[in-house]
Amino acid sequence: MAHSRRQLLRLLGLAGTGLALNTLRPEAAAADGTLTERLSVCRPEGDPLQELLRRNRDFCQAWQAAERSEDPQRRATLLHETWPLHCQVRPDALAAGQRPWASVLCCADSRVAPEWIFACGTGELFEVRSAGNTAFDEGIASLEYAVAELAMPLILVMGHSGCGAVTAALASNPLTPLLEELVAPIRANLKPGADLAQAVRTNAAAAATALPQRSPLLHQAVAEGRLTIQAAYFDIGSGEVSLV
Ligand SMILES: [Zn+2]
Repeated sequence: MAHSRRQLLRLLGLAGTGLALNTLRPEAAAADGTLTERLSVCRPEGDPLQELLRRNRDFCQAWQAAERSEDPQRRATLLHETWPLHCQVRPDALAAGQRPWASVLCCADSRVAPEWIFACGTGELFEVRSAGNTAFDEGIASLEYAVAELAMPLILVMGHSGCGAVTAALASNPLTPLLEELVAPIRANLKPGADLAQAVRTNAAAAATALPQRSPLLHQAVAEGRLTIQAAYFDIGSGEVSLV
């Protein structure tokens, strides 16, 4: 592959230290099957993307039920009630390693919390978050780590309704130099006359396309069928995630 595991570890400063998550590599699994099994208790057997969408349907029901309640504590209870359908890896196993089965590149927005939207416990989702969910350098590097070290099979690039970063990209109000840098890749892909929802979808699709273009490691994983990269849109009002 274009970037070997050894190269990645060297880049991460982990080569030769024995600190990499060796128990999670296939060849090491036999040596510590117990930990691997304990880390895998919540891992779905089927397609990770379909599992995320299935769990999102559970979340949607609870989210929409919460909409109908006037009691804030009852609303929280309704959301928590989606969790008994799912599970949680033991904390002592998580202290020894991780085996997430899906990754999400999404916005930093407080309303876009992947664990809730996909009804997942700690240790299930590998998350990269930044305003506007662009394919920024550190985000790509983080996803390279997830694919190379954790055998990540899925990256979901998820935009959302009412995104402030995409709204800023559509407008021409003065921004700080760093914010200008942040919205530049969003602006670069905007189509003239697009409304916010269209722009968010376009931006998510552009970031999903950019990931393998900018990372030989991600490109290789996609080419070998080990990795799926999918764009999606989260509607805050309904709670629904739809594919782009
Ligand atoms: Zn946003």
